This record gives sequence, C-alpha cells and structure tokens, in this order.
Amino acid sequence: MDGSERIDIGGVSVPCGHLIGGERVGSPDGYEVITPIDGSPLGHIPAGGPAEAAAAVAAATAAFPAWAALGPDGRGEILDRFADAIVERMADFQRVDTHDHGALAAGRPHHGMPRTAWNVKFFSDRARGLHHDTIAGDVVDNSVRYDPSGVSALIVPWNAPLMLGTWKIGPALAAGNTVVVKPPEFAPFSLSLLGEVAQEAGLPDGVLNVLHGTGASAGDALVRDPRVSRISFTGSPATARVIGAAAAANLTPVSFELGGKSPFVICADADLASAARTVAVQFMNAGQVCLAGTRLLVEESIVDELLPLVLAAVDELVVGDPRRPETRVGPLIHPSHFAKVQGLVERAVADGARVLCGGGPHPDGGLYFQPTILADVDQRSEIVQTEVFGPVLTLQTWRTEDELISLANDTIYGLAATLFSGDADRAERISSQLVAGTVWVNCFYVRDLAAPFGGSRASGIGREGGTWSFDFFCDVKNIATRRGTFAS
Ligand code: NAD
Repeated sequence: MDGSERIDIGGVSVPCGHLIGGERVGSPDGYEVITPIDGSPLGHIPAGGPAEAAAAVAAATAAFPAWAALGPDGRGEILDRFADAIVERMADFQRVDTHDHGALAAGRPHHGMPRTAWNVKFFSDRARGLHHDTIAGDVVDNSVRYDPSGVSALIVPWNAPLMLGTWKIGPALAAGNTVVVKPPEFAPFSLSLLGEVAQEAGLPDGVLNVLHGTGASAGDALVRDPRVSRISFTGSPATARVIGAAAAANLTPVSFELGGKSPFVICADADLASAARTVAVQFMNAGQVCLAGTRLLVEESIVDELLPLVLAAVDELVVGDPRRPETRVGPLIHPSHFAKVQGLVERAVADGARVLCGGGPHPDGGLYFQPTILADVDQRSEIVQTEVFGPVLTLQTWRTEDELISLANDTIYGLAATLFSGDADRAERISSQLVAGTVWVNCFYVRDLAAPFGGSRASGIGREGGTWSFDFFCDVKNIATRRGTFAS
C-alpha cells in the first residue's frame, strides 16, 4: 500500500494511510479489516512497523517546539476549530463508527459524537486556565507551571476508538504535546478520518500523527521509542503488562485505563423500576464497555420482585444491524471475540449456571449475541472473575452489607461500580467501601470531564480527566523564588 488509498465507508471517503508529518504514508504490507455488521471486508490498512513508528515519532518530535511555543491560547484557537470541525463531520464519523466497530447509528444515549468534540474543546478551555498557580511559602513564592512534556504515544482499543482516542488526544494536544496515536487494528478508520479533519481544521503538520498497524508491531515499536515522553494506553491488563515493561526501559510515564468486572448493586430500598431499566443499559455497545456493571448484586429480599422488571427491560432490547434505528444491541467486533464470549457462556452453563435470558448466539446468526443473564454462579467461577466484554451479566444475591462488600470487591479489578439505593446514608456507607475509580449512585455512565477517571488494581494506573490529565501529560514544574531578592 502506498498510503494514498481511500475507501468508501457508508458513503464517506476515508483515508487509509498512516498520517505522518502531514503526509499520508503507506507500508509494504497491509491487512484486511472486516465490518462486524456482516463480517464482510471493509478495506485494507497499512501494517505499520518499527520504520513507520520511528518516522511518526520523528515527525511529532520535530513539530513539538513550535506547538509548545504557541501557548494555551494559541493552541486553543486551533483546537477550538478542530472541535468545531468534528461537530460538522459528526454524521460522517457516526457512519464510519457504525461500519468499523458496530456502533449504533441511532439511539446512542451514552456514546455520542458530541463527546468526541467535547473531549477536544473541554481540555482546550481547561488548559487556558491552568498555568501559574502560586503557593506562598515562608521565604519563597512557589510558582507552579504545567509545561508541555514532548511526544505522547496514545494507544486506543476498538470498542469506542473515536471517543477514547479523543479523550487522550484532547488533553495531550491542549497540554502542548504532540501526538502519535495508534488506532486499534479491528476498527482503525474513524481515527484515520480524524487525522484528516484535524489537518483541515489547521492543526500544523506533525502535531497529530496516526500510526496504523498491530499492537505487536507498530504499537510495540512506538512505546519503546525513547523520544516518547508519555504513554497513555486504554486496553486490556495483559497488553498493559507488556507496555509497562517496555516503558520501564526508558522510564516513560504511563497512564493505563484497563478492563473491569464492575459490580451493579441493587439495594432493597432502591427505585426498582429505575434500577431495572439501568440494568438493560449495561448491554449497550453489545456489552463491549469496560465500565459496564456486569455483576448484578441484588439484596436477596427483593430479587423476586426485581427480576421480572429486569427481564422485561432486557426483552425490549432489539438485537441486530446497528444501522437500523430500532437496534439497541449491535454485533460483537470480530469472530475471534465472538468465540471468546461464546466459550465463556458455554463453560459457565456447563458448570451449572442458570440462564435467565439469552444464553447464546442470536438466531439470526452473524456476530450477534443475545443479551444474557446467568444466575447460580459461584463467586470463584470463571464467569464471575473474568471480563467477558460482551452482552453477558451474572446475578448474585446478598443479605448483609458485609457480604455485599466482600462479593463486590472480590475480583482483580476496580474500575467502576453502580449502586441503586433510596437511602443516602446507606449509599454513602457502601460507596466508600467499594474498590472502584468511579461509583455511580442511582445513575450510570455519567461522565463529567472535570472529574477524575481511572481504575484501581488491575483496572489501571493513574487518573485522567480535568486537572488530572494535565498532571499526567505535563511536566509539572515549581519555580521557588526567594521573596525580596529582586531589585524591581
Ligand atoms: P488490547 O489490549 O488487545 O489492545 C488495545 C490497543 O493496544 C490496540 O490498539 C492494540 O493494537 C494495542 N496493543 C496491543 N499490544 C500492544 C503492544 N505490545 N504495544 C503497544 N500497543 C499494543 O485491548 P482491546 O481488545 O483492543 O480492548 C478491550 C480491552 O480494553 C478490555 O479489557 C476493556 O475493558 C479495555 N478498555 C478499558 C477502558 C477504560 O477506560 N478503562 C475503555 C475501553 C476499553
């Protein structure tokens, strides 16, 4: 592939090459990407490797001084144009997202394009107000600066590439860093298009580079490059261990947003109708959501009352082609992932799990899996301990809060938790004991970009969001000046 290729995705012309220093660049080899809608070929992407990774980092390194020198206001003008351009191309991005990772074309209450633009606009605004805190000491004035740190390597998974990519690109660029972003191999096209939209909005060449390829080749070379000053990765704990080891060689700071097996706690005093509707929301993106509350932990006294409400809400979910407006649960990303999800469910059922709904592939075939809830599962079983990343929940009951906390916190993860209760004291008591980077109380998936986001234990390292993003992407510098030592 020479990098100049474009493909038509649902009527949108998308560039396929790497974007390096403002040029579309190819690689000797490419690989085929399928659409999860029907498994058919969507197009080819160049398979980048060490040479393309080095070129992308070189372009970002060359562009860094001028971008950093623009300051928050100068960068902010360009980033605001970039955010506006994303909004203008929203329908195109949505079509590409639908084809390359199966995002719903309509009815996406929680996964929206506005968030993609907001990721850029929010951090651009935030950077303008960041610099020059002053802390008065006994003999010195401490002036705190957030300096750009250099080249950020941003590694993105396939379940929401545009939203998760811009969540990193926005703050990294606003901080004054230049970026090499590596899109996921299963769903590379929306970030490829984003590079073009950034260019059209006036982002200088080399400030945002897009490096395609597999994790083992392009991604690995990128994170090993000593010119990279920050690595922000969203993906699985297994990949994080490999990246962490590579980063250690250069002492490159890492931010890891990883998997989850989050509890969804429903207390007897909760609004059960609201809780049941929110359980059905856990199947959005076909359950391919790191934050999903996949372990239903229901107070035993209300399980018989709650379950019919939950099953009715789940029954309303239309599974099928994500282009159809009525669809609420689209396809799984790839046959290999489908086989993983199916295997986990089959083994759980063979181990004695009771199928409350779903339980296997959708009768229409393809990569569609039925929303599934499994009861009678053991806390130590594979299905309770392993992230499925598909439309599969388990249901367990508890009698005391001590029992609840022990079940809730008994996995290797600590990404999020959802809690429904009508009692503020109880909600506070339980929330404070849950191991999770985010606890939602009587709501789910509300993401304020000013709030910290990240995971504990195997769910991540560090927090991003608000000032936390700048703490990570910037070199935070303190200038301690002795008072009264200047002539004027
Ligand atoms: P993955 O770890 O397989 O891949 C993620 C990215 O890392 C891809 O772009 C891949 O190419 C790249 N990669 C793989 N090996 C690499 C290497 N050695 N060096 C550099 N890059 C490498 O994850 P996935 O299957 O794409 O995504 C699913 C996982 O992501 C799930 O565990 C999910 O929970 C997690 N996730 C977490 C969050 C969060 O915010 N915490 C959000 C979405 C997804």
